Amino acid sequence: MLPPPTGQPPKTHIKKPKISDHMNGSDLNELFFPHEDVRAIQDQLVSEISETIRQKGNLIAHAPTGLGKTAAALAPALSHALKNELSVFFLTSRHTQHLIAIDTLSKIKQRYNLKFDAVDIIGKKWMCPVPGTDTLYSKEFTEYCKKQKEDYRCEFYSNTKAKAGKIKEGAEKVLEKIKNISPSHVEKIAEVCSQAKVCPYELSMMLASSSSVVISDYNYVFNPGIMDTFFLKAKKDLEKSIIIIDEGHNLSHRLREQMTERLSNFILKRAVREAEKHSNDEVIQYLDLIRDALDQLSRNLGMGKEKLVARHEFTRKIELIGDYEQVVADLEFAGDEIREKSKKSYVGSVASFLDRWRGPDEGFARILAVKKVNSMPYVCLSYRCLDPSLITKDIFRNAYATIMMSGTLTPTSMYKDIMGFPNSTVEREYGSPFPSKNRLCLLVPETTTRYAKRSDQQFRHIAEITSRIANMVPGNSAIFFPSYSLRDQINRHLASQLKKTTFLESPGLTKQEKQDLLHEFKQYKDQGAVLLGVASGSFGEGIDLPGDLLKAVIVVGLPLQVPDLETKELIRYYDNKFQKGWEYGYVLPAITRALQNAGRCIRSETDRGAIIFLDERYAWPNYRRCFPADWDTKVTKMYEDRIREFFAE
Ligand code: SF4
Repeated sequence: MLPPPTGQPPKTHIKKPKISDHMNGSDLNELFFPHEDVRAIQDQLVSEISETIRQKGNLIAHAPTGLGKTAAALAPALSHALKNELSVFFLTSRHTQHLIAIDTLSKIKQRYNLKFDAVDIIGKKWMCPVPGTDTLYSKEFTEYCKKQKEDYRCEFYSNTKAKAGKIKEGAEKVLEKIKNISPSHVEKIAEVCSQAKVCPYELSMMLASSSSVVISDYNYVFNPGIMDTFFLKAKKDLEKSIIIIDEGHNLSHRLREQMTERLSNFILKRAVREAEKHSNDEVIQYLDLIRDALDQLSRNLGMGKEKLVARHEFTRKIELIGDYEQVVADLEFAGDEIREKSKKSYVGSVASFLDRWRGPDEGFARILAVKKVNSMPYVCLSYRCLDPSLITKDIFRNAYATIMMSGTLTPTSMYKDIMGFPNSTVEREYGSPFPSKNRLCLLVPETTTRYAKRSDQQFRHIAEITSRIANMVPGNSAIFFPSYSLRDQINRHLASQLKKTTFLESPGLTKQEKQDLLHEFKQYKDQGAVLLGVASGSFGEGIDLPGDLLKAVIVVGLPLQVPDLETKELIRYYDNKFQKGWEYGYVLPAITRALQNAGRCIRSETDRGAIIFLDERYAWPNYRRCFPADWDTKVTKMYEDRIREFFAE
């Protein structure tokens, strides 16, 4: 049970937020809005969110940057939760987005003199103070932690809980301390707990049970394994939870990845080595036979090829080794034993693949692929999830209310379909709060990166246009390409034409490398530099370059997925389900990526910037109508004049 609400409506000496006609009288009394003013357009969002929660409904809100989404969602959700003994889940795809939610809650708490707890949680692995655990795969960490707790071998856990499961006295004092500083960022909680040698995760769970607001990543609600444990431990009930999904455009991809399992010859090789190290002959024999099964399946598949595999094609081969259940159980057992000694286990990974492989066909694709990785043949059998609604639809039906929001959720109807929202879900598209005169948005139909039209001449032409634009921009520009390979082919021609320093994004940058590169790039804001990135790389989403740090973004081509078997299966799946395979499985996700890239440029109402979409397809009616209405896109080949005029203003 949650504690009774202690918050009172704003006292009379507190200046009430100025609320427009979109808000009704009861909102005025109940809303714990953190700021003095409710902005234009933000008031509509607040009003819609309030109404959705009151109706116990679902809302999909396309709400551009600068609208103040976090405050607009948290204020009505919290006020409703405190009054009705509910919990609010504010879910984000990145840890960096937690700060603004914590900040908003702190302001609400102070402004209205409220008493409520809130907790900020990230993955258990990232909170764990045991050295070396951050290098483990998530599943391995889960197994490792489980074992450590079961055997009372973790010092932090032993200091937190007694064998009967009760909290220890010392830990209770730490819990009081973190309650007193709530809402606090997870790093602060982790610091306090590790200094006191107690487990930050366990204490956060205890804090969660008294918290009206939980700020976490998607996993705590949308990963069934994690959700069940979390809701049980934190004493939460989905029917009494208001779910706010921030940056909701990321959820479908995250869930597809989460539900996908892969088995490769690389994993099997490592698993064999691991079993040899632990002298487990029976497991070595199993693994050799599984390797043979994979070899047989891929025997006639050429290098660089893929094919669909039926479930029975692989299971029958495993059944030749022994009873399927028994093979899985034996490998799981061996994996557990290995984890006890060395934290991670590839044998355990093989077991979990075999277990998942027996899952349903509907909403999944079973794909066998052979390619070269580091000059070595790489054979991979995967059980890939195509349909995120397999997880989300029940959650949306059972939660008290759900708000999914993002600056790139157009068309909202696609998200309603693919995420499995109920028919009654409200869809809203809000305009940008920033002055439209501050953004120049051009669609330049001069070139294309369409596969059939790729040529050196085409790349040279793209390089000419992009360098011309970047050279005339008074400051920094970022150019996003569909892939590293295309970027590098075009960059060969760019090098001689760009008059500015260039920064090349490399694949797989660490957090630190990314920060360092951005830091250096920012130093060029006056003389101007050019960042050459990739649409779905490190800088295409989630970076802020406000003010005069970035003056222009050029999106080269349409960042479509590689048309591999998985993409084709996705198109086929959505064709069968909604008769919209091409849009939902291929084109619209690419437009969303392009819009995310474009969004790096204008982050506040005083920012001015030019956004150029360089590909003939953007001007085609089917693609052009995917742009938010208020972007005021102009199709032009006179881009130089338009850009010059814009920056001369
Ligand atoms: S119990 Fe806590 S401290 Fe110990 S391994 Fe698990 S998460 Fe880490």
